[in-house]
This record gives sequence, C-alpha cells and structure tokens, in this order.
Amino acid sequence: MAVELEDLTKTYDSGAGVVTALDGVTTHFAEGTFTAVMGPSGSGKSTLLHCAAGLESPSSGAVTIAGIRLSDLGETALTRLRRDRVGFVFQDFNLVSSLTAAQNVALPIRLAGRRADDALVRAALTEVGLGDRAGHRPRELSGGQQQRVAIARALFTRPAVLFADEPTGALDNRTSHQVLELLRGLVDRHGRTVVMVTHDPVAAAVADRVVLLVDGRITDELTGVDAAGV
Ligand code: ADP
Ligand code: ADP
Repeated sequence: MAVELEDLTKTYDSGAGVVTALDGVTTHFAEGTFTAVMGPSGSGKSTLLHCAAGLESPSSGAVTIAGIRLSDLGETALTRLRRDRVGFVFQDFNLVSSLTAAQNVALPIRLAGRRADDALVRAALTEVGLGDRAGHRPRELSGGQQQRVAIARALFTRPAVLFADEPTGALDNRTSHQVLELLRGLVDRHGRTVVMVTHDPVAAAVADRVVLLVDGRITDELTGVDAAGV
C-alpha cells in the first residue's frame, strides 16, 4: 500500500505569526519499502508524518493512501482509515501506564467498541518477542520492551503502513537495534511500508531510502548503498 504526498503545505497560525512547517512536499512512499525522514529540528518532519498518517490535515495539497485521497473522506471514514490501515509509533511510546502490555495492545480495538481476541493479542506480543510479558505494566518493562509493545499495538489491526516518529529516540543503542530489526522485518518479511522520522544516522541506515527535509522542503534523497553512508 503506497502513500503519495502531492505538493503538501502546512502553515500554523500562532499568536506570534504564521509558521510554514511544510512548503510544497511531493513524494511517494512505495509499498514494501522503508523510508527514513531526516532533517534539522523544526524542519517539518513530525508535521509531514502527521499529515501523511491523517492525524493532521494539510493546509493545501493531497495525501493519498492506497489510492484513497484523505481529503475525500468524512470524519467517520477517516477515523476508520487511521484505525485500520495505518499504524503510528511515537518516541515516548504512549502506553497507558495502568494497563498491562496485553491491554495496551487491545486498547484501540476496545475503544472502537470491538472485542480483542486474547489469542491474537498474545500472538501480537509474541511477534515482537514479548509473549511472556503480556501481564506486565509499562513500568515493569524496559524502554525497548515498551516500544515493542507500542509497535505490537500499532500493528494489531494489520495496517499496511506504519509511521514511526523517532521510535528509537528514547532508547539506548542495544534496544534501538532490536526495534530497528523489528521494523526492518515488517518490510522484508511482511511487505509492510514503513516511514520513520529519525535524527540517528545509525537508524536511518536501516532504511532503503533517506529523505532530507530542510525548512519544510525535501532537499535531498539517498537510496540503497548511499543511504547507509549518511
Ligand atoms: P520537526 O519534527 O522537524 O522538529 P515539526 O514538524 O515539529 O518539525 O515543526 C515544524 C515547524 O512547525 C516548527 O517551526 C514548529 O515550531 C512548527 N509547529 C509545529 N507544530 C505546531 C503547532 N501545533 N503550532 C504552531 N507551530 C507548530
Ligand atoms: P501479510 O500477508 O500481509 O504478510 P499476514 O497475514 O502474514 O499478512 O500477517 C501479517 C503478519 O504481520 C503476521 O505474521 C502478523 O503476525 C505480523 N505481525 C503482526 N504484528 C507484528 C509485529 N508486532 N511484528 C512483526 N510482525 C507482526
């Protein structure tokens, strides 16, 4: 499932004036590929990811996921698309501290008013190497384990596209490596499309393609062997 961004702009009108976060971004995240988005702080990386995932609407331009233009969808259809087709992973995991790993994985389904099958929840945790941690709460897990719970949750509805905003930003090298391996495996073994914002060149080296964002514009792209040398 590919994601297309067409001439995306996003401006924020804050008290202090208008900020242009995205300034005409056009790109394509091909199905079954892993893209890293890099760039200085404030260059628009998070805004790009949020717009691409339908979490924010652009000021102008279009986002198309699997041939569906997000601006054509009503609120209900957009909510359903965000829930079922797209996964999102955050730097700080965003787990609910009072819930177990299993309950966190099941939460989006529960919030949608459906029942989560216990065996499927267990399988999702096993996939990320945490089959024996289903009953643990976030504070009883390491950072890397918490991020893997968050990834299991993001993947639970089997979305074809996973967006990750600095998924290793709060992790040490070793646990970062585990999370990156997991993301790489989603692309290589399951044909998922992954788009990851990162500051870390080591993380970016796992991607097939690196997109460089400066002042809300794509200024450079590296693919394949080049990407590993960033
Ligand atoms: P990055 O992720 O590369 O650090 P962001 O996408 O977070 O960049 O931000 C891009 C620009 O948009 C920055 O100048 C930031 O201050 C501004 N910005 C982001 N979100 C908002 C917001 N909700 N309101 C006002 N300005 C914002
Ligand atoms: P596809 O045919 O698109 O690969 P599958 O039916 O094989 O779809 O299911 C996709 C795979 O994604 C399944 O093996 C599922 O368990 C797996 N999956 C779900 N969550 C995770 C995860 N957290 N890590 C790795 N794989 C996962």
